[in-house]
Amino acid sequence: MTTRGYVAHEASAPLVPFEFSRRAVGPRDVAFDVLFSGICHSDIHQVREEWGPSIFPMVPGHEIIGVVTSVGADVTKFAPGQRIGVGVFVDSCRTCDFCVRGLQQYCRAGVTPTYNGRDAQGEPLFGGYANQFVIDQDYAVTVSEDCDLAGAAPLLCAGITLYSPLKHFGAGPGKRVGIIGLGGLGHMGVQFAHALGAHVTVFTHSASKEADARALGADDVVVTHAPDAVATSGGHFDLIINASSADLDINPYLKALTTDGVFCFVGISGHPFSFDPSLLIGGRRHITGSAIGGMVELQEMMDFAATHGIASQVEVIEASAINEAYERTVASDVKYRFVIDATTF
Ligand code: NAP
Ligand code: ZN
Ligand code: ZN
Repeated sequence: MTTRGYVAHEASAPLVPFEFSRRAVGPRDVAFDVLFSGICHSDIHQVREEWGPSIFPMVPGHEIIGVVTSVGADVTKFAPGQRIGVGVFVDSCRTCDFCVRGLQQYCRAGVTPTYNGRDAQGEPLFGGYANQFVIDQDYAVTVSEDCDLAGAAPLLCAGITLYSPLKHFGAGPGKRVGIIGLGGLGHMGVQFAHALGAHVTVFTHSASKEADARALGADDVVVTHAPDAVATSGGHFDLIINASSADLDINPYLKALTTDGVFCFVGISGHPFSFDPSLLIGGRRHITGSAIGGMVELQEMMDFAATHGIASQVEVIEASAINEAYERTVASDVKYRFVIDATTF
């Protein structure tokens, strides 16, 4: 069956309509009609080779929601008609210690990415900007029947990328959490941190986002990254997550951490950052990073979001608007995630 999607044929090229075939449905595979596909800033970084060389032709997309159309003979987790979600990876080695612990995102052999990777035959893997998908059942999650599907798509990357470090680093009652950048990732982080019971401060360079930040659950909003403003934000943060796609001076934020506080990168600008080690030494502070989440945590996050009524705020677009959406995302002009209506591919 022919799959219709959108492709970048070479680095930084505009995305254009594209027809291709998905693999045949194997015994453990699930085929589904894609309904919504989110646009993550990582799609843009990779189309534009901002992280180094990419694989072309590239069909991006790793926030994918759909409805199952058929299943292989050994599939037990899904049945036709059921809602399904796929995120940033579609396979991993399954045998290393991290895979066994459900931390597939840190697989020793490296995950098989949803796109910008190759299949066993060496052919490029095509992602979610398409009307159909085929996935091994172990690398897909179930999606609540109650949730809004467009608003659920960004959970598959943006949602899990913030949920995982918030949980790992103990966001909860009595903890002060800072979120830098109110974009696709950041606006999920605010909602999750608030739902977990933490005190949440948003740091944004967009004055137009202040009211939204509060509505999403922020207790405080700082509308600049200027060192003076960061310094007067109350400080003593237990955890600051940098969800910005841009290069920032992180030193004021390190200074704003409490003793043993954690500064966690999730944003990946593609450039190195510099910091003053005395800011770490003085308060035994930590700089770390976090990648998406494993399959167990991905399902946990989907269920947590459904239970707490957490979803992405989305602008649903037609496929023909993808290139314009890329420009607007780069300009921080989206509230807060573009999601493609997959019936328009
Ligand atoms: P996004 O929706 O474009 O949001 C990024 C935010 O960064 C913007 O909304 C803006 O927030 C801030 N920003 C952008 N340009 C800026 C500038 N010039 N100066 C200051 N701030 C600026 O992107 P996203 O999809 O949330 O992704 C964020 C980053 O995380 C990207 O680098 C992406 O590749 C990365 N990512 C990492 C993982 C992981 O597993 N670690 C997973 C997914 C994505 P304000 O307007 O509020 O300032
Ligand atoms: Zn992503
Ligand atoms: Zn592994």
